[in-house]
Amino acid sequence: MKDEFAQVPISDGDLAVLAGIVADADELQAQLTAVQVAEVRMLARAGQLADKQAAASRDNVRLHDMALRSIAAELGGVVRVTDRTMQARIGEAREIVECYPTTLAAWEAGRITRGHVRVIVDAGSMVPASRRAEYEAEAIKRCTRDTPNRVRSALEILAERTAERPFTERHRDAAKGRKVRLVVGRNGMSSFIADVPTVIGDGILDRLTQQAQTIIDARDDRDLESGDRDRRGIDEIRADVFADLLLAGAPALDPTADGDGPGALGAIRAQVQVVVPALTLLGRDDGPADLVGRSPIDADTARCLAANTPTWARVLTEPVDGTVLAVDRYRTPWPQRRFLRARDQHCRFPGCRRAAIRCEIDHTIDAAKGGPTTLWNLAHLCQRHHSMKQFTPWRVRQLPGGVLEWTSPTGRVYREDAPAPPVAFMPASATDAPF
Ligand SMILES: [Zn+2]
Repeated sequence: MKDEFAQVPISDGDLAVLAGIVADADELQAQLTAVQVAEVRMLARAGQLADKQAAASRDNVRLHDMALRSIAAELGGVVRVTDRTMQARIGEAREIVECYPTTLAAWEAGRITRGHVRVIVDAGSMVPASRRAEYEAEAIKRCTRDTPNRVRSALEILAERTAERPFTERHRDAAKGRKVRLVVGRNGMSSFIADVPTVIGDGILDRLTQQAQTIIDARDDRDLESGDRDRRGIDEIRADVFADLLLAGAPALDPTADGDGPGALGAIRAQVQVVVPALTLLGRDDGPADLVGRSPIDADTARCLAANTPTWARVLTEPVDGTVLAVDRYRTPWPQRRFLRARDQHCRFPGCRRAAIRCEIDHTIDAAKGGPTTLWNLAHLCQRHHSMKQFTPWRVRQLPGGVLEWTSPTGRVYREDAPAPPVAFMPASATDAPF
């Protein structure tokens, strides 16, 4: 008969090994905590240094931002994250060090973990500074008894109770944080996220649902007659209607309208920058195209976009290393701009992937200092990194082949090669090159 209460057999030897592993885990956890706390303190010091650099100046806000960007880029280069990511980490670290000292001490003493700290700080955002110490003490007590995920809602309620400001006021502030963003996913798909007031979001979903339902009703009648079947489910139809409205619809409020006719907003068309290998374009292979600054897109979508595009930049590349040799100048009115866009593809600050169509063309040696408007002195920089080059000690020079060499304020050198485009026309075409 099977023993329902059989235990996993464990020998004395195995038990000793396990005890060793557990002791190691305990020791490593303590070391990890010490390192994480030290990192948070270091990041906060970096942020405070930016304050100090800007304090002397009258143009305080802009200078502070530039000082912070420059420092974030310096640190980002060392730990290999973008300066934007580093700047966000510095902000989080300062909040912990400056606003939650007791929480930091509890973390350092091993009473709570990194996850707990995150929950305490997140939920604590609505607690007024005057009651923060009281909130912290109670929050830490609860955190020592449970895991971060299980304690989260209790802390939110606790924070809600200490909040002195009325809901209306908090909503007004929160609504200032409304925004839309795109989170790139896998398989050529992305999530489009809009942070809007709940009542608006609910309304949007309701309208999409009603429209989708109307499409389904209409199609069911039509399908019976034509025999053609539209098999999309309601989720798919809602997503399609959503995209349709945003790509082709006109906003109801248009300040450019003058009363006689529609304004300019509805006429603005979306722009995307796609690099398609010639063979994919010709349908000879199904290799992916590149939606610059985002992710790969599938060959069918790329060909569909290509079929609807009136002008193309033909890029001739060196067959071995992919260096851009030439861009067909006969079809385009701005060969230099086209060439640069094809060569750079995105912002040329180390690690930045903002697409060239959303960048500015920068004179590597300033035009005011005699820098010429020639290819070897021009490169794409996004607005953030363009102003960083102008207003901080970061320096750049351009080497042959479109390579940019950046030097940080402390003298670290980063080489930013021109990206190798996935485009590769047959070498035979290169004989027709206009350059
Ligand atoms: Zn950039």
